[in-house]
Amino acid sequence: MNYDELFPKITSHAKEYGFVFPSSEIYDGLGAVYDYAQLGVELKNNIKTAWWKAMVQMHENIVGLDAAILMHPTTWKASGHVDAFSDPLIDNKDSKKRYRADVLIEDQIAKYESKSLKDTNKRAKKEGWEAGSEEYNKYLQGNRNAKKAQELHQQFEVALNSDDLDQLRNIIVEQGIACEVSGSKNWSEVRQFNLMFKTQLGATADSSMDLYLRPETAQGIFVNYLNVQKTSRQKLPFGIAQIGKAFRNEIVARQFIFRMREFEQMEMQFFIKPGTQKQWFEYWKEYRMNWHKALGIKEEFLQWHEHEKLAHYADGAEDIQFKFPFGFKELEGIHSRTDFDLSSHEEFSGKKLRYFDPETQESYVPYVVETSVGLDRTFLAHMSHAYQEEEVPNAKGGTDTRVVMKFHPLLAPYKAAVFPLVKKDGLPEIAMEIFKELKFEHNVMYDEKDSVGRRYRRHDAIGTPFCITVDHDTKEDNAVTVRDRDTLEQVRMPISEVRSYISKKLSWRDLLDW
Ligand code: ATP
Repeated sequence: MNYDELFPKITSHAKEYGFVFPSSEIYDGLGAVYDYAQLGVELKNNIKTAWWKAMVQMHENIVGLDAAILMHPTTWKASGHVDAFSDPLIDNKDSKKRYRADVLIEDQIAKYESKSLKDTNKRAKKEGWEAGSEEYNKYLQGNRNAKKAQELHQQFEVALNSDDLDQLRNIIVEQGIACEVSGSKNWSEVRQFNLMFKTQLGATADSSMDLYLRPETAQGIFVNYLNVQKTSRQKLPFGIAQIGKAFRNEIVARQFIFRMREFEQMEMQFFIKPGTQKQWFEYWKEYRMNWHKALGIKEEFLQWHEHEKLAHYADGAEDIQFKFPFGFKELEGIHSRTDFDLSSHEEFSGKKLRYFDPETQESYVPYVVETSVGLDRTFLAHMSHAYQEEEVPNAKGGTDTRVVMKFHPLLAPYKAAVFPLVKKDGLPEIAMEIFKELKFEHNVMYDEKDSVGRRYRRHDAIGTPFCITVDHDTKEDNAVTVRDRDTLEQVRMPISEVRSYISKKLSWRDLLDW
């Protein structure tokens, strides 16, 4: 199975086993809104815990926050979202399908790049070049398709940076980009479309106030900066971390939970002395990349991407991209936001948001470096990375294909499943005792339905790292068999050792101490 053919399998696996369901499905669902089901909520909570521990608990100078979703509407004027939080959209006049103009062009660049890679590999095979060798790299950067990608990239960057919507349209037309539904190249003008959801506070028309559902969690942190700094008595540099919902009326909402209209972000704003932003930007880049690797994501699935166009607030921005089955795409952004947000909130609120530096006796608006990762995208990254189809030996001496989710054990929805071999002879009672012993520390499952082989398959498919089987010998030797999800190795151990065996394999210290 090719990795790039995996996506439909992941989406159906997520639904079949109870990870993710379309929202309000009995009413045919709601576009790009999803519910996390019984296993999904566990995986999601485990990712949140891994983030919170790494960001808050591991840093004595970072504290948490849980700000409200609804905020005073002036927040969004100050942050620039009312004026500038928009995407350039374009309609295909024949299919009436709506696209993001920038995404159409990015996809075209990716197409040239992928052709260039294919050409290079073909040539390398013929010439006997090693991947990564000097000849290989020279050809990779100099072939016809690579040049096309570079030229288009340049044109695109100029159009984006000058907000030239006509030029974006010209590029789409010149490149002969067609609508994927109709194949038509009959395009509308490009327009800006604000992505914030509007709602109202108050019951009567006169007293009501237009509000927005927050499109990012960061502003809840900025408006609380001074309250938190004072009450936590933190000195610069220090950070505020938050996990919470954000809402965007995305134009092209597709690719399952990759682009949703309601999603969750895990953001941390790190307040620093002006002038130190480069150093902290590098620190957080490295730290965040290490976090993804510590959770088991292989290096070749991660890469850095520099922004073509910096957001209105930024003096540096790079994304961590993950290799999803549909290509390398943004998973997390590391942004150097300068003092834009705090200064702007000072201006709009009339309140001073300064830091008094006891060392230099100066008062200034801190600079900010932020790390912002999508929880749902991290979830999808782990689903994609973990999914494997493998041939495994069966009881009859042949092989079976198993689907196994190789999640990091600390992320797996269930840490262990306890099975009585049969539903009689006192085995269920022993298994239940083991379940009760483990459940205080870990999310474990007691499972007695079907043959043991089928139970193994079921737990492989949801990524349970350990299956503990109670058999007839258990009554004699007080020992059980513990099977490892990944190696399939089965070890026999006294019941009294099971708890410490599982706990050792689930060590936050091992994960966080990189
Ligand atoms: P994109 O370019 O993919 O729209 P973005 O650059 O607008 O993303 P940011 O504003 O930097 O995203 O948000 C930080 C993180 O929040 C992203 O890296 C991503 O993981 C997540 N995120 C943003 N928009 C969505 C969405 N619609 N659905 C799910 N996650 C999202």
